[in-house]
Amino acid sequence: MWLACSNRCGSQLFRALFTEVEIDSEGTYQSHRIVQPGYLCLNCGAPAFDLREVPAEREAELAEDEVADAVDVLCPVCETPVSILPGEECPNCGAPLEVAPGS
Ligand SMILES: [Zn+2]
Ligand SMILES: [Zn+2]
Repeated sequence: MWLACSNRCGSQLFRALFTEVEIDSEGTYQSHRIVQPGYLCLNCGAPAFDLREVPAEREAELAEDEVADAVDVLCPVCETPVSILPGEECPNCGAPLEVAPGS
């Protein structure tokens, strides 16, 4: 994790907004976990962001894009150029289409 104030005030202290704190029977802090990302700068109160999380989110988006990439193929049955996802049928005539890997 690498938190940074969105106001760029240079603060090194932040508050996690959505946490569950585990305590013992006397109420002494034991540990915590962050339930949801959400942070505030303790210095100026502006929202803070986890800079390390951004690339990971981008990677996840890229991976999703890869899975959902439409492929342009020419339907051999109705000879219509169609854009389909791998495994889909021709939207024009319903013929099963095979997408050549790497195309
Ligand atoms: Zn700040
Ligand atoms: Zn077709």
